[in-house]
Amino acid sequence: MLVTFYGVRGSIAAPGPSTVKYGGNTSCVHVRLNTGINLIFDAGTGIRKLGMKMRHNDEPLLLLLSHGHWDHIQGYPFFDPIYQPGREIRVCQGVDSNELALKAILDQMDGSNFPVAAEDLPSKITTVQEVDEYLNQQSFRTIRKTLNHPGGGNAYRIEEDGVSIAYITDNELDPPGEPQTTYGEWVDLCQGVDLLIHDAQYIENDMPAKHGWGHSLISQVRQLAVDSQVKNLVMYHHDPERSDAELDEIAIESAKYFKSNNSMIGSYIAAEGLSFELTARKDPKVSTIDLHNN
Ligand SMILES: [Zn+2]
Ligand SMILES: [Zn+2]
Repeated sequence: MLVTFYGVRGSIAAPGPSTVKYGGNTSCVHVRLNTGINLIFDAGTGIRKLGMKMRHNDEPLLLLLSHGHWDHIQGYPFFDPIYQPGREIRVCQGVDSNELALKAILDQMDGSNFPVAAEDLPSKITTVQEVDEYLNQQSFRTIRKTLNHPGGGNAYRIEEDGVSIAYITDNELDPPGEPQTTYGEWVDLCQGVDLLIHDAQYIENDMPAKHGWGHSLISQVRQLAVDSQVKNLVMYHHDPERSDAELDEIAIESAKYFKSNNSMIGSYIAAEGLSFELTARKDPKVSTIDLHNN
């Protein structure tokens, strides 16, 4: 399984000199399974570069959306494969979001908000209605949970050939009021995964103002990684205001935290081009791909 990050920002794209290192594009992660199936988690602005790469092959594409907020769908009209005649693309819009959110990815291409209308696209785009049933029929295993996030949404655990990952973004681990998914259920979902990708948008200074906004503190995400004994943690969906220098500090602090807990967890800050080759019973091969010269 090969996991590559194309967009790592939350809320809105944040280009500029202070975000060059980790990147300013919004959420998009590519997971190439051993069977040649391409899972694409979210269609933020990062999906544009992935689309340029994908047009050189005709492998199946399966877009799994966490939810319909702009930062997770706004790159879709710029995803090259949707303009390829006959290209087969399946879109899983999820189930535990409100109905408007589910339609947002296609409705944004209405000929008014975007010059091309969805019905004029030459590719073969299928919207999957029965998401759980569809995912259950695949060669890989999926477990889905509902996000603690305004408007709802989906988190996924994917398993293939003894390797497992969890993609959980726009999730508040300790929300005010009754959670959709409890902390214990998150621990179960993430248990022992090779790679946990989790929303880590906030730091303690953001609270209490942003409690209830549907994102987690970095400290809570590290705790989840420890409690669920994951092998590697990638902190993801960075606040648009979080600079490269601040993320560098968070990287150092996180390494210290895991060391002081006698934990072997590998901790990473999500960055555009960061890539993990995951194989059962071996350490991941971690590299950084130059997305801009490929
Ligand atoms: Zn988001
Ligand atoms: Zn959101």
